Amino acid sequence: MAQPLDDSAANTATSAELFERATRAVPGGVNSPVRAFSAVGGTPRFISEAKGWRLTDVDGNSYVDLVCSWGPMILGHAHPAIVEAVQRAATTGLSFGAPTAGEIELAEEIIDRVDPVSRVRLVNSGTEATMSAVRLARGYTGRSKIVKFAGCYHGHVDALLADAGSGVATLGLPTSPGVTGAAAHDTLVVPYNDLDAVRKVFAEHGSDIAAVITEAAAGNMGAVAPVAGFNEGLRTITAESGALLIMDEVMTGFRVSPAGYYGLDGVAGDLYTFGKVMSGGLPAAAFGGRTDIMEHLAPTGPVYQAGTLSGNPVAVAAGLATLRHATADVYATLDANADRLATMIGAALTEAGVAHRVQKAGSLFSVFFTDSTEPIVDYAGVKATQTWRFAPFFHALLARGVYPPPSAFEAWFVSAALDDEAFSIIADALPAAAAAAAAAVDPGEGA
Ligand SMILES: *Cc1c(COP(=O)(O)O)cnc(C)c1O
Repeated sequence: MAQPLDDSAANTATSAELFERATRAVPGGVNSPVRAFSAVGGTPRFISEAKGWRLTDVDGNSYVDLVCSWGPMILGHAHPAIVEAVQRAATTGLSFGAPTAGEIELAEEIIDRVDPVSRVRLVNSGTEATMSAVRLARGYTGRSKIVKFAGCYHGHVDALLADAGSGVATLGLPTSPGVTGAAAHDTLVVPYNDLDAVRKVFAEHGSDIAAVITEAAAGNMGAVAPVAGFNEGLRTITAESGALLIMDEVMTGFRVSPAGYYGLDGVAGDLYTFGKVMSGGLPAAAFGGRTDIMEHLAPTGPVYQAGTLSGNPVAVAAGLATLRHATADVYATLDANADRLATMIGAALTEAGVAHRVQKAGSLFSVFFTDSTEPIVDYAGVKATQTWRFAPFFHALLARGVYPPPSAFEAWFVSAALDDEAFSIIADALPAAAAAAAAAVDPGEGA
């Protein structure tokens, strides 16, 4: 927190009061670490309301939302059709602990969109989805080891926290206390986008490897797309050794195309995990894949997996309504908005003389401060960027009504609700933010 805080331009008194009170009831004052603004400092904004692209905080400040609840809100906040679907579902009962027709419709919608998925099981969070997919992969193959990539985040599953992205990266943690050696022992971590490293780990452990799990395009160390041939290489290597390929599309799924990243690169995984967009903003997620693998789940198979609230009718209604409204037009708008925003940011930084790269993975993108002219392809590359420029850049935007992700290690999320008014607020905020990034001082240098 060495960076100067720039809360001066905004009145944040009520947020500050709530945050102080929150820290006496909730660890760190938040229910998910990145929300605490640890990496950027300053007062986390307590939100009172959101509509379309606009977030409003408890002090009455409004922001163009470029986080979108970390992905789900592709249609913008409080979209009338989604609100209506949720209200309708709520009036007919909140939870039954028995099957409903809506669950089939949501599963069918996912199956229709993603070719390699022919069976779907609904769960409550992306974490649960990846945890279940890993258990199923182990149960199906009878093998114990899992290969994951440094900087990829798959939720806070014990075995997958090693060298994880997202909040683990933001807080600079190598892994987490509380994860036993036994849980971590079967996890093999290799650099992202490095097929030689994958081949090497398979040469050593091939017959013990149940699965490779990867973000279909990495978004949790910032946006780092797979290099040409990387996902295909994973497909080939896993198939050759009888291991499964788990494509984690919790972030990319139904955001970067109607079929997620699969819709962009066409590389078929054996298992998929989804969350975020398919939840419509309520707690819902899913995993799915090949029939022969998925039928290993109880009650047809021996691999146990369950959930009291899984397939919750209100969450299903929100997810289904979101996917049904996420038409080809919406995806075209998301792409156009991401392009427009990335171009504006790049131009403002260039104008201010700040060396940077704006990297994209579909409509996800990140702003990396770096002198390097080469694409950043892995976690080591991301960590080597000038992350100290990020906090002043972030706060200058926030103070001018633009809410980017509060960490250099996160992707930016656009919604289809961004309009000319939103873009003009962003355009007005960018020069000062670029100047703040330019003026930032490397804490590692000088006295
Ligand atoms: C967000 C995310 C998760 C975890 O989902 P939660 O709903 O937060 O548990 C898993 N994998 C990826 C790729 C994610 O982006």
